[in-house]
Amino acid sequence: MFHRILIANRGEIALRVIRACREMGIESVAVYSTADQNSLHAQYATQAVCIGPPAAADSYLNMQNILTAALNTGCEAVHPGFGFLSENSEFARMCTACGLEFIGPSGDVMDRLGNKAAARQLMMQHHVPVVPGSDGPVHSDQEALEVAARIGYPVLVKASAGGGGRGIRTAESPLDLPSALSAARAEALSCFGDSEVYIEKLVRAPRHIEFQILADKHGGAVHLGERDCSMQRRRQKLLEESPGHGITPALRRQMGEAAVRAAQAAGYTGAGTIEYIMDSQGSYYFIEMNTRIQVEHPVTEELTGVDLVRQQIRIAAGLPLGFGQQDVRFDGHVIECRINAEDPVRGFAPCPGRVDFLHFPGGCGVRVDSALYNGYTTSPFYDSMVAKVIVRGATRLEAIRRMRRALEEMVIEGISTTQELEHLILYHGDFIRGKYDTSFIEKHLDELVAMLGSREG
Ligand code: ADP
Ligand code: ADP
Ligand code: MG
Repeated sequence: MFHRILIANRGEIALRVIRACREMGIESVAVYSTADQNSLHAQYATQAVCIGPPAAADSYLNMQNILTAALNTGCEAVHPGFGFLSENSEFARMCTACGLEFIGPSGDVMDRLGNKAAARQLMMQHHVPVVPGSDGPVHSDQEALEVAARIGYPVLVKASAGGGGRGIRTAESPLDLPSALSAARAEALSCFGDSEVYIEKLVRAPRHIEFQILADKHGGAVHLGERDCSMQRRRQKLLEESPGHGITPALRRQMGEAAVRAAQAAGYTGAGTIEYIMDSQGSYYFIEMNTRIQVEHPVTEELTGVDLVRQQIRIAAGLPLGFGQQDVRFDGHVIECRINAEDPVRGFAPCPGRVDFLHFPGGCGVRVDSALYNGYTTSPFYDSMVAKVIVRGATRLEAIRRMRRALEEMVIEGISTTQELEHLILYHGDFIRGKYDTSFIEKHLDELVAMLGSREG
């Protein structure tokens, strides 16, 4: 097993990895930008190294500085967390070239799956259903128009390198397609440095159902069930839960086995997520694989009792999984709410600032993953997610009631957050009945925000 690991990330996910290291008797090395000098992850690790100024490009994306820090501190492995360098195949290869174990799949496997157009092709070869669309990337407007005419409108133009809901545009008709293509290409170039796009049929009001998988270096692979992430605003997840509404044991087995087959086809190792969208008829289609730990991984951890970060580290160190599919149990119901430092009443404007008073919920079945503390000033330079509240109950209704109670207990003063909005969602009839899809927020946002406004008043 490793003795020392560098964590190439910040915030709650860095803390999450440091916690796993502590429990495993592994020393942790944190890296931080000058804006993060007072961050909890830098305090909590065994050691911390400053890697540059606030802008992510100069610090958390600065491969040279991060690798130098890892080598100078005698680390044997690097955990990339999510975001930043976590899906950068060049970084994975550079780690290997420096004699460091990258905690994730190899750079080549990442290229095969991280490029969403290439991943679609791979899935088709292995009989995993994909949304109708282009065979790989489209290189011209003409080619895109031909594909769209064949599959029928509306279509989505999607960035091959995309993530976090960016680089995606809808075209309702051939008239919209050229502008959708240029907008998606421009956003993809600025966000991911790569303007390649592909076409997919738009599935109206689908559900987003994803499967967590783990694969070791000895051919062992399991799935750990699904997460329903349909509660989204602008294709970004707000609330996740498991089990998903109407996912029967038989369907779970079928979708989970397809997920494992897809991962093994690519020679995948580590923790990964296969994302599907599901139409109103219950047909499901692969949309992408995330080759990293995900924001919502605690949902699966609380449902199955499997520590996913610990497993990532064990797999990277060459250990076998130590359990099989038949050992995986799904117990009760789990919900996660993402708390972002954003003001829903003011168009979700980011609200960085000083946390004047902080109180996290506790009690039976409640987990909070956060790097906030009393007096901490959140940074305008990075992602606005400041906490994740995760609850587990014996039934879905118990989990909903527990989450309402947890959010009522939580106090974050000094900054605006999405806490109250999440609380309102938990009282919405469609949510309580479990009958919601990715259009829920779009459909109900005005009504929810009006209720928030009147609460504030
Ligand atoms: P996805 O929406 O792609 O399924 P997640 O919900 O796990 O994935 O994360 C949303 C996107 O935003 C991902 O690309 C993730 O890497 C990125 N992201 C989320 N939180 C952070 C953060 N704190 N710092 C940097 N990137 C982040
Ligand atoms: P990202 O890499 O940014 O996470 P995804 O391909 O996972 O991008 O898509 C993000 C979200 O957009 C999905 O969770 C889903 O809500 C929506 N979406 C993606 N593809 C389709 C599609 N073909 N039809 C309808 N909605 C889609
Ligand atoms: Mg996605």
